Amino acid sequence: MGILRSVVVCSVRTILTAARLLSPVEVVERPVVVLDDGAIASIASRNAAELPAGRHVDFPDCTLIPALFDVHIHGSGGHDAMEATDSALNHIGAFLARRGVGAYFATTVTAPLDTLLRSLAGLAKLMHAPLEGARPAGIHLEGPFLSPHKRGAHAESQLLTPSAALFDRLWQAAEGHIRLMTIAPELPGAEETIAHATQLGVRISLGHSNAQGDAARRGVAAGGISATHTFNAMRAFDHRDPGLLTEVLTNDRLFAEIICDGLHVDPGAVRLFRRAKGPDRAMLVTDAMAGTGMPDGNYRLGELEVRVKNGRCVVGEDTLAGSTLTLDRAVRNYAEFTGATLAEAVGLATRNPARMTGLDAEIGTLGRGRSADIAVLSPKQEVIETFLRGRPCVNDAVTFNG
Ligand SMILES: [Zn+2]
Repeated sequence: MGILRSVVVCSVRTILTAARLLSPVEVVERPVVVLDDGAIASIASRNAAELPAGRHVDFPDCTLIPALFDVHIHGSGGHDAMEATDSALNHIGAFLARRGVGAYFATTVTAPLDTLLRSLAGLAKLMHAPLEGARPAGIHLEGPFLSPHKRGAHAESQLLTPSAALFDRLWQAAEGHIRLMTIAPELPGAEETIAHATQLGVRISLGHSNAQGDAARRGVAAGGISATHTFNAMRAFDHRDPGLLTEVLTNDRLFAEIICDGLHVDPGAVRLFRRAKGPDRAMLVTDAMAGTGMPDGNYRLGELEVRVKNGRCVVGEDTLAGSTLTLDRAVRNYAEFTGATLAEAVGLATRNPARMTGLDAEIGTLGRGRSADIAVLSPKQEVIETFLRGRPCVNDAVTFNG
């Protein structure tokens, strides 16, 4: 009886009010959101609902959106996901939560096989660990099955020829937590590897690829459902040799990532991307690395040392190596570059990646019974608070009016 009582005392209801809520498919004006035990108990419009009892947090002039979901991120806040320690993921998670992110895929880069296996094993142990802030919802394996011609910053000597057997070694090290894999479909063994990984439930993203049209279509037929950082590290468009890029832009079944920082892709190309992929297949990612949210300097990306200057990340002469973009900024940039509504841009960083990965029952949409993972945007669309499982991550001391 005593125990039951203390549970009741702990689970105080929280009532959030704001100017607007984007689910993101539905818009609710003057929303009243009731949070109970870390979940959303109800969403109504203030016009229709009396303010229920509980502690009340008002965000005047603000917009409530689902916490963001980044399927392609290597690190942030001085740490790289391949460190695969709880300290590294706590730093990354705490930083991301302050930028409105609730979940992400810890993304690996090409590395010596034993290093990669060790990172995957370390990450697997942390997938269900109690961590701060945004939670790793799976692993995105970016490399080693990439084209040497479109490897970007990935180390050429460590790229490997895909095979189902090699994939199984990675899969076992990761204890089945690989949820997304970037692969170049034109490599020998790629089709077999794509089909095999797809059967295990892994989503396949085509990228770091020099594929011509036929190889791209074979990759899609084998199971490819998305494209990795569209335009970047992808065979350039030629009207007589349209290649993977054309398949990505014209196949309405394919989802596609884009790094919307204004550096990786020109705003004009982002407008083309929006026309091709529309509001249901486009996805915003950051490809962010450890230097994100940190001063200029040298940071790790897997085993690479990356120089960050004025927020631009390079290795060697001048090869882009990840970004210092945050997903909230990507949302603002996309709306600014293309004229998309905020609701559409938010969908690209919440609902669409959730649908692509098959996690849409848990992530990416606000609704009754769902986890209370909510970001609060100011009138300038900057994140001022993020609730994860109902708890504020930015301001522990949010003033309660009720
Ligand atoms: Zn990449």
